[in-house]
Amino acid sequence: MKIVIYHLYPDLLDLYGDRGNVLALLARCRWRGLEAEVRNISLGTVPNFAEADIVILGGGSDREQTLLTEDLKQKAAELQAAVESGLVVLAICGGYQLLGQYYQTAQNKKIPGLGLLDLYTVAGEKRMIGNVIVQLEQEWQQQLSTIYAPSEAGAKSLALPTLVGFENHSGRTYLGSGLKPLGTVLTGYGNNGQDGFEGVRYKNVFGTYLHGPILPKNPHLADVLVALALKRKGLATALQPLTDDLEIAAHMAIKERFSNK
Ligand code: GLN
Repeated sequence: MKIVIYHLYPDLLDLYGDRGNVLALLARCRWRGLEAEVRNISLGTVPNFAEADIVILGGGSDREQTLLTEDLKQKAAELQAAVESGLVVLAICGGYQLLGQYYQTAQNKKIPGLGLLDLYTVAGEKRMIGNVIVQLEQEWQQQLSTIYAPSEAGAKSLALPTLVGFENHSGRTYLGSGLKPLGTVLTGYGNNGQDGFEGVRYKNVFGTYLHGPILPKNPHLADVLVALALKRKGLATALQPLTDDLEIAAHMAIKERFSNK
């Protein structure tokens, strides 16, 4: 058994340490004795998404997003079929925007997205930059409690009701009425700086504005991705908790430093 991670456009979508998400997934699999492999997929290839367990898309500048327009069209149908059958996807910022219908840049240029999710993004005048703290939706926290084998260390990660990260985007993302956010913003801007929402969750797809990278300091999110991928393969999902002292310390340090008092 092997977890296959497709890293989409690693040469074009990789801002503010996004590649660290792939490294964190690999490390957390390895620490648990799970075999994992990364396949880098960029322009010009339409991979067999049926072979992927987890797909990762990082963030990118408007220029890089524009360069992808034609290539995304080639990949969209296969990726959509896999998403509907439960493929696990983590998409960050520019990659998150590309899951939707379009991203309209500050120059009024419409970059078409993959059209996988009912969301769209329009650039505003002010860039939204800074550290972010997100309160996870209640149903999220319930899901977390099902992924670990019970133990004290597992309980530590479970006790994190938040996500932390760093955002830098001019795009404002609006979710269609059928879509749920990942959570609500406690500090920062999130999806659009207006409705208080951050990110999106659809089936096993997670979109978020959080760079940093997000997974090393949000080990509970990393583990949800792994657990969902195992479940889709028909395997037992109760993950062995890891110690996670450093990961939790990093999470808490950001929370303490940037909480709106
Ligand atoms: N180019 C997009 C924006 O500015 C995404 C940026 C990013 O991925 N950080 O909104």
